[in-house]
Amino acid sequence: MKYDLVVIGGGPSGMMAALRAGELGARVLLVEKNDRLGVKLLMTGNGRCNLTNSELERRKVIDKFGKNGRFLFSSYFRFDNNAVVEFFENQGVKTKVERGGRVFPESDLGADVLSALIECLKKSKVEIKTDMSVKEIVKKENRIEEIVFVNGETVVADHFIIATGGKSYPGSGSSGDGYDFAKKLGHTITPLMPALTPIILEERFIPDLEGLALKNVEVSVFQNNKKIDSRFGEALFTGNGLSGPIILDLSRTIGQALAQKIGKIVIKIDFKPALNLPQLDLWIQEDFKKGQNKMVKNILDGLLPQRIIPIFISQSEINPEKKVNSITKEERKKLLLLLKEFTLTVGRLVGFEKAIVTSGGVSLREIDPKTMRSKIVDNLSFAGEVLDLDGPTGGYNLQACFCTGRSAGENVIAHT
Ligand SMILES: Cc1cc2nc3c(=O)[nH]c(=O)nc-3n(C[C@H](O)[C@H](O)[C@H](O)COP(=O)(O)OP(=O)(O)OC[C@H]3O[C@@H](n4cnc5c(N)ncnc54)[C@H](O)[C@@H]3O)c2cc1C
Repeated sequence: MKYDLVVIGGGPSGMMAALRAGELGARVLLVEKNDRLGVKLLMTGNGRCNLTNSELERRKVIDKFGKNGRFLFSSYFRFDNNAVVEFFENQGVKTKVERGGRVFPESDLGADVLSALIECLKKSKVEIKTDMSVKEIVKKENRIEEIVFVNGETVVADHFIIATGGKSYPGSGSSGDGYDFAKKLGHTITPLMPALTPIILEERFIPDLEGLALKNVEVSVFQNNKKIDSRFGEALFTGNGLSGPIILDLSRTIGQALAQKIGKIVIKIDFKPALNLPQLDLWIQEDFKKGQNKMVKNILDGLLPQRIIPIFISQSEINPEKKVNSITKEERKKLLLLLKEFTLTVGRLVGFEKAIVTSGGVSLREIDPKTMRSKIVDNLSFAGEVLDLDGPTGGYNLQACFCTGRSAGENVIAHT
């Protein structure tokens, strides 16, 4: 059987492209190398799936993707964050908005988002083949003739969409195949780098802090003692460094700074960003007055998570058994500085295996932003993370997958 469209990759962008083309009447086949659809989608938002962001200003959403954001103007304007929310609510997935405009299913179950997409694929009569890994895309002159699977089977179609994702968390199926396909078909692939990644820190005590979550902290990045970026929010100690939303968002700056290889890169954690030094000093003095007969090691629990206190005290070089009433002004200052500027040395970024997205991809210059069609191969389009597009945390990356996927699916029918 010859299909109107074959979509390669059953992630959010491929599913959205397939169901939209099917809804518009195309005979669609969706092929996926895993034994089920949406493996990575189920990992998103720690299983809760932060499906988009509630940011009202469209321009601001576009800007989140840096200079490449302009590419999204057309597809985002036609399927923006409100449209994504409406799409899922129409499928019975109620949504809620959390800090930073992050939109989640009210149920906190990413599986509900996946089920809604699969239900729509069924309604749109999309044929789905899982456990089918595409090995080769065969092109003759300027058109794709067929695709060949690893098991030797072939499929022909009028049009093809590559929606194979990036190359992060390769165990999820997204192992970068789409970049190789695109390159062989004549497309340019811009340099690929892991983005939104945890960082590895050099301090020996880091493993002692594994699993410790920090809330409402400000983390700043310094290169050669110059502040180059900062974020406020949540972070999480891992076995060898730091992760969590603000760290992931800072990883781009850190990656660029590391690549420059000019000077040491440190991060400074401000545990009390709402207070300036004199205000925090007054606060501490109050605490010290109330607990003047306590030992230093027992006075800091109102200011810091328990697990980090021994490290603080050791860095301040104050005897932990010392009574609070005998702490000198100098020693208090040391504690103050640690609270405002707890300094950690950046070793490197974690690689593709733990990156949330891939930065770089199929060059946007070679794709029509209105249709997602290739400017190089007649019957080919792209959607999702395989494109040279990556945004910060907050639901922006899935939003980009949904709108580019929808646009790709919509514009197949218009041209076949
Ligand atoms: C841990 C984690 C958490 C995340 N959380 C969020 C979040 O909360 N919000 C957000 O906006 N973004 C989040 N992201 C990013 C988001 O998941 C991705 O940007 C998104 O899944 C990309 O969608 P996609 O459809 O382009 O590709 P993918 O989801 O990667 O899907 C591509 C599919 O193509 C298949 N495939 C690949 N090669 C072949 C082949 N040769 N033949 C057949 N099939 C193939 C793969 O198996 C895969 O299923 C998260 C990512 C990770 C790793």
